[in-house]
Amino acid sequence: MKKEAPKCKRCGKCCQSSSPVFHVSDLPLVANNHIDLAYLYTIRKGEYVWDNIERKGKKASKEFIKIRESETGCFFYEDEKKACRIYEYRPAQCKALFCEDTRDFFRVYRTPRLTRQDIVKDTVISRLVEEHDIRCSYEELEGWLSRVEELGEKAVEEIIKLLRFDYELRRLVREKLKVKPEHLDFLFGRPMINTIKHYGLEVKREKDGSFLLTIAQDCSGVTVPSK
Ligand code: SF4
Ligand code: SF4
Repeated sequence: MKKEAPKCKRCGKCCQSSSPVFHVSDLPLVANNHIDLAYLYTIRKGEYVWDNIERKGKKASKEFIKIRESETGCFFYEDEKKACRIYEYRPAQCKALFCEDTRDFFRVYRTPRLTRQDIVKDTVISRLVEEHDIRCSYEELEGWLSRVEELGEKAVEEIIKLLRFDYELRRLVREKLKVKPEHLDFLFGRPMINTIKHYGLEVKREKDGSFLLTIAQDCSGVTVPSK
């Protein structure tokens, strides 16, 4: 008797473990508003991520865009119904993923990834995204972090300047350009006052609004999963 080919059991384990990364073929999902930018975030170049494929934390070699995650995995996964809330419009990685035969998934995985510049059409915002990437790069941050012992306060000041720029730019874009706050993690990546925890540091706000850089109480390390 012919053996039946294995089928997806719709158990939802893949959706609970992580959210998909977007590829260029997913552009229509965003361009046609099937998935709002509020549900996405960007991992910027040099940012620490947990790589689910290689099963290790590493620095992102290029930027990529993901669906937000909650404690139960992908934001769009509905635990009670064991269903995807955007099934019809799920990204290419999700369509291709079958845990018992990953050939299709890896075919998609090797295709070019979507970037913010593929999506952002407003030239002012686009320039701000570029400027932010230069002024607040993880390479620059790590450069100053590596020189704290040598330069002391001077290096700490430069780190705070960089964190401050990342913080203030988000505020300005929200207030002056009326960008929705929920779009900021897509436009500028996750706030650096949060991601600085990956380096065992944290930022405390003083009463006068200034930033104080301290050793993190809970230094749990690299936490962002990636399909
Ligand atoms: S691909 Fe695998 S893990 Fe995902 S729902 Fe299907 S059977 Fe479950
Ligand atoms: S978009 Fe849907 S199919 Fe894809 S990981 Fe999220 S819940 Fe699962």
